[in-house]
Amino acid sequence: MALSQGRASAASRLHAAPSMLRARACRGLRLTTGRAGLARPPRNTVQAFADVNFDAFRPRPVAAASRHVAHELAPPVKQHDFLVIGSGIAGLTYALKVADYGTVAIITKDHASEGCTRYAQGGVCAVLDKSDSVGDHVRDTVVAGAFLNDLHLLLMLASAAASAARAVEVVCREGPARVMELVELGAEFTRNADGSLHLTKEGGHNNRRIVHAADMTGAEVERALLASARAHPNIQFYEHHMVVDLVVDEYGGAPHCFGADVLDQRGNIMTRFLGLSTLLASGGAGQIYPNTTNPHVSTGDGIAMAYRAHANVSNMEFVQFHPTGLYNPKGAGSTFLITEAVRGEGGVLLNKAGERFMTSYDDRLELAPRDVVARAIHDQLLRHGDKHVWLDISHKPRHEVLHHFPNIAATCLELGIDIARDPIPVVPAQHYTCGGVATGLLGETNVQGLFACGEVACSGLHGANRLASNSLLEGLVFAERAVNPSVAHAEHALRNCSRQLHYAAASADFRGPRAARDLNPALGEWVATRRQELRDVMWRCCGIVRRTKELQAARDYVVSLYIETKAIYKNYGINTELVELFNMATVAELVVSCAMQRKESRGLHFSADYPQADEAQRRPSVINAELKSRYDLSPYMRNMPSVLPAGIGGPASANPSKRLMRKSAPRELAVRSAPQDL
Ligand SMILES: Cc1cc2nc3c(=O)[nH]c(=O)nc-3n(C[C@H](O)[C@H](O)[C@H](O)COP(=O)(O)OP(=O)(O)OC[C@H]3O[C@@H](n4cnc5c(N)ncnc54)[C@H](O)[C@@H]3O)c2cc1C
Repeated sequence: MALSQGRASAASRLHAAPSMLRARACRGLRLTTGRAGLARPPRNTVQAFADVNFDAFRPRPVAAASRHVAHELAPPVKQHDFLVIGSGIAGLTYALKVADYGTVAIITKDHASEGCTRYAQGGVCAVLDKSDSVGDHVRDTVVAGAFLNDLHLLLMLASAAASAARAVEVVCREGPARVMELVELGAEFTRNADGSLHLTKEGGHNNRRIVHAADMTGAEVERALLASARAHPNIQFYEHHMVVDLVVDEYGGAPHCFGADVLDQRGNIMTRFLGLSTLLASGGAGQIYPNTTNPHVSTGDGIAMAYRAHANVSNMEFVQFHPTGLYNPKGAGSTFLITEAVRGEGGVLLNKAGERFMTSYDDRLELAPRDVVARAIHDQLLRHGDKHVWLDISHKPRHEVLHHFPNIAATCLELGIDIARDPIPVVPAQHYTCGGVATGLLGETNVQGLFACGEVACSGLHGANRLASNSLLEGLVFAERAVNPSVAHAEHALRNCSRQLHYAAASADFRGPRAARDLNPALGEWVATRRQELRDVMWRCCGIVRRTKELQAARDYVVSLYIETKAIYKNYGINTELVELFNMATVAELVVSCAMQRKESRGLHFSADYPQADEAQRRPSVINAELKSRYDLSPYMRNMPSVLPAGIGGPASANPSKRLMRKSAPRELAVRSAPQDL
């Protein structure tokens, strides 16, 4: 019995597809990345994967007496041609495109619409105005990124002959076409009276180039993409399914990704999803901070699981704090964002004394890059001992303010603030993870068959600081770029990796500590407390302004937490809360380690001990498998009193610290800054 039972075959779908799609499929293949021997159309090969009989490799339940054992040995395995982890702008865009070539599973942790994308307010950049140019967009991106963006670009600007297109140039050049695709898909953006797209402006941009849907751009983009994806016959959604780990095996001496182990949060069961190519589009890690504009799903799962799978990770110290989160003394959880477009449309920042303080910090005033404005506000709060500053747009005509910012106006009104009349109380809040899984120009990672795009990735676009409204654009551009190599890889895996695929199917074993298991009350309390502690430590010790001593304290805390959580994670059983805490501890450790390595101030990383930029350190931070193996955790291990908190228990919890000492110490977290390959 083939696992694909019940699905239409790829061939029948091909024949049912409009001829334009078929032509596109063939065109797409010809455009592949230059891998040898990939000239065949992909559809036949993808169909062949659907026909592989993985059940043949599972134990057969022959004797009635052993049936329950056999059942345990044959856990659910699902198979799709392409796996997509996450259903924000990056995942949905990619899914819609690879669905032309085979079956797609979109695995997503909450409702499909939950994620940062739906909360995006300001808009998406695109060079569409006659007075604007790709060069200007490139320049603004690199200036905001403190010249740490893809360094090849700098060579390119210096020498027009060096034509290799790199991340910044690629995104700025291809962006307008991707945004127009969204329009064709049905996204309704704000328009001028003549029907043209209205372009707004945000900090760091020298031109109007931001396409928007009033102040709810992300919600409109997510709506349009989701509607198309749900209607696509090749796409199957798995909502409330959390990816726990990637399935990685070796082929030809290189790690290959063959799928993911997934927790069905409602059914409380684990399933192995096999895929020929996998896209990681799981967003950022805002939840490692207490004040964040990110929703609850942004716990850095994708970065942590890719790191565990030996993917390279880069630039984690660059955490963007948005200057203007709505200050709400009673608020808990995520912080509501007041988009930068409010400043773009003339909003000014005032301290409690009513002074326009940005005049003392930067010539660009309120439209200086976000790191500059966030630090200025931070400084004002410390100087005056205030809890917030004011953002005032009440001098603009009322109808203009309410027309452009209806969502912000409504949310503020719930707190008794009329934004067309009153100033808005604001504080900085974590907003964006600039670092992530290191990717190339086609969204590829160093793990074959694993692609990444959107906020989970570090493509080189943002450098040390993301330019406003470049992130939705990044997701769109790299999702498109990852399609052809994904199809090419799918064909390669199908042709060459059947042994690994069979093994991945046969070895799925979700018993004991790999089984789904709810938290017991004691462990539930422990996890909740540690989660809050971690967030507080990160805010205090690795926030807007950093100091070496505080970073060291943060590192001591997060490494200990990482070890403790890992021990429980490996021994207790799988549930969302525990996996998230483990991922958050992993990502927090990566952020702190990268921050400690950078002994200068650049972009979003500001160190009070090294307040100047140092040209010698203008290179990305890179964390890779080779470095992990050299890292020594023994000082932390010695100080560990007990690994499992009293009363928590678990199937294999006896003396876990000894086991950890033996197994985990040789390869743990490590970081270095490495010169970028020029
Ligand atoms: C309030 C706010 C305003 C913003 N405004 C703008 C703006 O105006 N312009 C702009 O360019 N950018 C903006 N951004 C940033 C931008 O929205 C995000 O960077 C972008 O949407 C990220 O898209 P994504 O597809 O990578 O991830 P997301 O949209 O965050 O989607 C991630 C997906 O992965 C899923 N997921 C996570 N972990 C797992 C797991 N373990 N298993 C399965 N699924 C998982 C999530 O459930 C979610 O579906 C804003 C962000 C916020 C929070």
